[in-house]
Amino acid sequence: MNNIMFKKSTLFAAIAVLLLAVFSGFNGKKETVVEGAGRPILIQGPMPIEAENFAQKLEKVKVEKSGTFVFYKGKLNNYPVIVVKTGKGMENTAAATAVAIEKYNPIAIINQGTSGGHDPSLNVFDIVLGKRTTNIGSLKTETKNVKEGMDPSQWIPMDLMASEGSGSDPNAEKVRYYEGDKDLLAAANAVKDKYTKGKVVEGTIGSADVWNNEVDRIKWFHEKYGTSVEEMEGAAAAQIADAYKVPFLGIRILSNNKTNGGAYNPNTAAANQEYVYEVVKKYISTIQSK
Ligand code: SAH
Repeated sequence: MNNIMFKKSTLFAAIAVLLLAVFSGFNGKKETVVEGAGRPILIQGPMPIEAENFAQKLEKVKVEKSGTFVFYKGKLNNYPVIVVKTGKGMENTAAATAVAIEKYNPIAIINQGTSGGHDPSLNVFDIVLGKRTTNIGSLKTETKNVKEGMDPSQWIPMDLMASEGSGSDPNAEKVRYYEGDKDLLAAANAVKDKYTKGKVVEGTIGSADVWNNEVDRIKWFHEKYGTSVEEMEGAAAAQIADAYKVPFLGIRILSNNKTNGGAYNPNTAAANQEYVYEVVKKYISTIQSK
């Protein structure tokens, strides 16, 4: 009897300790989210010129670092917003996205910055809203034997998310597109007229750790993938956001366009942040009216 009582009380104690641990752990996590209202909106920029202007617009900023990723946690119109300087490229962006989701539980993610035009009708300072975002570095080559050379025009898209297995899965030989979130797109379209340095259009953002300068290759992507612009981050963020079911949108300004002679202009990075600032204000107003 005593023995049973002892066991019961030990069990209760264990449960109490467990509940306390879970409860305080939960509280601890909540505290790392910007205090107050809702889940933060996460704004990603790869390079300092693509993140710091936006970070300077936030109020009550606290800086936190994870690895090489710098998070500027602050407020915009009293709503929590986190700007993150991810660093350039797919790997940095995927990791920074996963860290941010686990640490800060964002309500939505905007990946923004500069890009190179694939569409000759788009000029430097025009902005592309990523109705779709896709990885243009995920490719499978044709089989060619020794001395048969190489022919990138024959490469085929390879969808790494088609299955968990290996081998030549025909389902994997297609382009995977990540759809831009419709509420984020609506907010972005609603403030289009506030941007006066160029036009704002919906389109397809292609990403890879590659800078394409071959106009025929750019044309190949434009025709096969429907890309409007290329950059090095969007699809990595989109893939991870999709894995966690967090609403996502890429917003990219053209800083250069090889297809129509548009020379690189780094001032586009600041112009894009001005526009994205308007988008975020609009998105906050729609969240708050829900
Ligand atoms: N200018 C450097 C490379 C910078 S990496 C060099 O030539 O060594 C390019 C960064 O700008 C990435 O973060 C990418 O997202 C963006 N970018 C702008 N234009 C691009 C283009 N035409 N192709 C690929 N990335 C581009």
